[in-house]
Amino acid sequence: MEKVYFIAMEDFSDKNKVNEASKKLLAKVDPGFSGSIPLKIHFGEKGNITFIKPENYEGIIEYLKDKKCEPFFTDTNVLYKGSRTITKDHLETAKDHGFTQIPVRIADEEDKVTEIKIKLKHFDSFFIGKRIADAKQMLVISHFKGHMMAGFGGAIKQLAMGCANRRGKLAMHAHAKPILNPLKCTKCMTCTKHCPVDACIISKIPHVDKKKCIGCAMCIAVCPSGAMTINWLAVRPKTFNEMLAEYAFAAQKDKEVTYISFATQITKHCDCEGTEMKPIAKDLGLLASRDPIALDQACLDLIRKQEGKKVFSGEHTLEYGEEIGLGSRKYELITLD
Ligand code: SF4
Ligand code: SF4
Repeated sequence: MEKVYFIAMEDFSDKNKVNEASKKLLAKVDPGFSGSIPLKIHFGEKGNITFIKPENYEGIIEYLKDKKCEPFFTDTNVLYKGSRTITKDHLETAKDHGFTQIPVRIADEEDKVTEIKIKLKHFDSFFIGKRIADAKQMLVISHFKGHMMAGFGGAIKQLAMGCANRRGKLAMHAHAKPILNPLKCTKCMTCTKHCPVDACIISKIPHVDKKKCIGCAMCIAVCPSGAMTINWLAVRPKTFNEMLAEYAFAAQKDKEVTYISFATQITKHCDCEGTEMKPIAKDLGLLASRDPIALDQACLDLIRKQEGKKVFSGEHTLEYGEEIGLGSRKYELITLD
């Protein structure tokens, strides 16, 4: 049975307390960290105020530096139009949000991606940011919160959507082609210059040639008018949950991955939302494990216990993740002081 370590914290305002707690937890799950360690985090979309703040990572950084490791922050560029769509803006957002203690390296910078082949139910090919795919060890640091389709979670979403490049993200969202809204299209031709297979057809009625399109999502990133979007109607929640689990499986395969989750500022939607959101539950604390399924399950169980009858969904990702061997929903919760 997997172990999940937990330190209850009702208040994250004292950064020294948070950092002492994260060091204590890391010592329990340390696989023998060495060398260069990517800290997979989320820098928060511009306008978001509930992402995990940089000062709360200081204990983790100190712990790794004491072990003579070289930690760096990493994340992948996002699919939609925002402040983290391209590497330059993503780095600027990280800096503006105060992530300056250690280097920030975008995992799919210059669209560098590694294709991982594994035959699963929904995918047989996975596109993971190269810096993450190349790492032998990784520390996945998540913010436990909601997501409009995935439900509540942390570690699995961070591994899946967080480690995939744009092509992988689009495959999980829409299976897998963008749609072009001709009413929004200004016929600027930017997408045609970036599409690798000439699938953006800017004619009398602009559209995407679905036969040619390989779903790389580049057009969504570069379209200045928001005419290229994700086809949300093509997404079925249960399928989406299973795709997340499959991508998470691919991202952690052949790697030593350790997980820490911050269950604080628990909002209904995720840190990709560039808006101010109010937490919908009280802070729980910090959790750590070597198993992402056990960790997310423990967070869900704790929040349900704390908040009573409120429904916090997210279970199907964990059920399916367990089925494909990503981890175990059975765990032993070890509470530390
Ligand atoms: S998703 Fe990629 S291949 Fe498809 S139309 Fe857009 S740029 Fe072209
Ligand atoms: S980049 Fe956007 S606005 Fe420009 S032609 Fe393509 S779809 Fe139209």
